[in-house]
Amino acid sequence: MTRYADFHRRSIADPDAFWAEQARLIDWQTPFTRVCDYDEPPFARWFVGGRTNLCHNAVDRHLEARGDQAALIFVSTETQQERVYSFRELHAEVQRMAAILLELGVKKGDRVLVYMPMIPEAAFAMLACTRIGALHSVVFGGFASVSLASRIDDAEPAVVVSADAGSRGGKVVAYKPLLDEAIQIAAHKPARVLMVDRGLAAFSRVEGRDADYAALRARHLDAGVPCEWVESTHPSYTLYTSGTTGRPKGVQRDTGGYAVALAASMKHIFCGNPGETYFSTSDIGWVVGHSYIVYGPLIAGMATIMYEGLPIRPDAAVWWSLVEKYKVTVMFSAPTAVRVLKKQDPAALSKHDLSSLRALFLAGEPLDEPTAKWIAESLGKPIIDNYWQTETGWPILTICNGVEKAPSKFGSPGKAVYGYDVKLLDEQTGEELAEPNRKGVVVIEGPLPPGCMQTVWRDDARFVNTYWKSVPGRMVYSTFDWGIRDEDGYFFILGRTDDVINVAGHRLGTREIEESISSHPNVAEVAVVGVADTLKGQVAMAFAVLKDPSRAATPEAALKLEGEIMKVVDEQLGAVARPARVRFVGVLPKTRSGKLLRRAIQAVCESRDPGDLTTIEDPTALQQIKDLVAPPA
Ligand code: ATP
Ligand code: MG
Repeated sequence: MTRYADFHRRSIADPDAFWAEQARLIDWQTPFTRVCDYDEPPFARWFVGGRTNLCHNAVDRHLEARGDQAALIFVSTETQQERVYSFRELHAEVQRMAAILLELGVKKGDRVLVYMPMIPEAAFAMLACTRIGALHSVVFGGFASVSLASRIDDAEPAVVVSADAGSRGGKVVAYKPLLDEAIQIAAHKPARVLMVDRGLAAFSRVEGRDADYAALRARHLDAGVPCEWVESTHPSYTLYTSGTTGRPKGVQRDTGGYAVALAASMKHIFCGNPGETYFSTSDIGWVVGHSYIVYGPLIAGMATIMYEGLPIRPDAAVWWSLVEKYKVTVMFSAPTAVRVLKKQDPAALSKHDLSSLRALFLAGEPLDEPTAKWIAESLGKPIIDNYWQTETGWPILTICNGVEKAPSKFGSPGKAVYGYDVKLLDEQTGEELAEPNRKGVVVIEGPLPPGCMQTVWRDDARFVNTYWKSVPGRMVYSTFDWGIRDEDGYFFILGRTDDVINVAGHRLGTREIEESISSHPNVAEVAVVGVADTLKGQVAMAFAVLKDPSRAATPEAALKLEGEIMKVVDEQLGAVARPARVRFVGVLPKTRSGKLLRRAIQAVCESRDPGDLTTIEDPTALQQIKDLVAPPA
């Protein structure tokens, strides 16, 4: 048995011993008396009886050994700001923010909604919340008033922390009017709003409700706010899933289990060491931002880069210039961002000294082979795909190089991560598919490991019914993704369970067809959906973004290219998988976190209402598809 196989086996066979050992990676104010309480499945309670604090583990405990080392590195290519906060400075800022929140009436267990651009005050606010035992509920700054209002009503925050504006590609995006509108729409009215004024956009204040951060901070410069030691099971935050498949779910996370899970992942997965720099290009509004911009790196004693700006402004080398400047050792991004870079000048990648960088981790969506190969070759560094969900908070599948070095396989996020008893089940019968190379639903046997969701915020029934009851006759956690596992234990994610199409009785994963189409040299990106067809039940429809759109400039050229692409699919997968049409668009509809909105594309193709589109990045993308499938008369 390999070292990793044994490590994983121990984590499943004797989770108490395994996790008790991992729990030593963090500080406890009171030791726990029970590792895992799974008396009431599927609700798992980790490190029962223990008391700890996330903020203490992320900030305070590093003061002695590395108080003057960098903790938070803020870089904005939007406002041309750059500022490094040491652990000591971060400690001071977080205490000031905590004192302000206390003054505004926030108590332990209260929710604080954070609606902020990528500025240091957002991280201060998150850390200040967990410091005093309040729950943060970060809402991605790109959401507009209706999405924000629904989250305000769900979280019922005592206080909202916000800013005058964000900035994207040089354009100021005002936040305050959207926030005011959201509070107007919402049934719940937060008592206070704390405003960080960046001087980007003038805004009106509501008397008695809105407070000014700078003014309050000035009064609390010397604030000393001790950490509130909370039960390990005390919720640290709530966060919504991306809403790719429907109404977002409010994920509730604990304190102790999360801290242990992140600390362990920094060691075994990311191999980040204290004193080094971690750079995650995500946003604090997403789970990657929570786990791997704010908490994970800081818990590990690393500096973390918080970057406000685009990956291609001022030029496509900006990220790599930060890698060089701050000697980044571990980097985390998403395939969608890599595809953006792929369209730029490849020379950008060789302009900077990247010798500090050990690996680039990618997650969030399937990493197609062409994209993986391109970035691996351009960087000359290991690319490590990792598969997980907002619900789990940290990777389910990846390569744990910190336990034992192992090769990656293109197209596979890797093996089951320690702590996760991952299985593939037959969707119809619920039978386990133990032999390799069989396609099934990816499920996790309970209890979920530390760090995963405790429940759906204020909705235990939705937690049980949504996640644990989808497979007949078994209580297992469903990821709602299809997968396959090879002889070596490597998983391949084949798409979401609702992304399977049925062409004349053949069940096809849209992901497989997309992979095939992506291998055409002129295809930058593609989405495939199943569309109802009276003859075949369903047919595959493909929408592709071209690297060189001029090759489809005329209808004749487009038809020729369409034929070429269909031939690729015929050769690789067979004629049964050939899409009925391959259409060319300038941009694909995605969630703001970069995930393809297949359900919306499918609805448009079937002339149905695309449903909840609050998470869409660019509404014109869907319009382009509408115009193609049902041209305006
Ligand atoms: P919702 O659950 O609200 O529909 P969502 O599933 O898009 O939204 P997230 O939790 O942000 O919300 O995304 C998790 C999903 O993203 C996974 O279930 C999987 O479908 C996809 N995913 C994440 N990482 C990978 C990866 N490395 N490879 C393939 N798919 C991935
Ligand atoms: Mg999901």
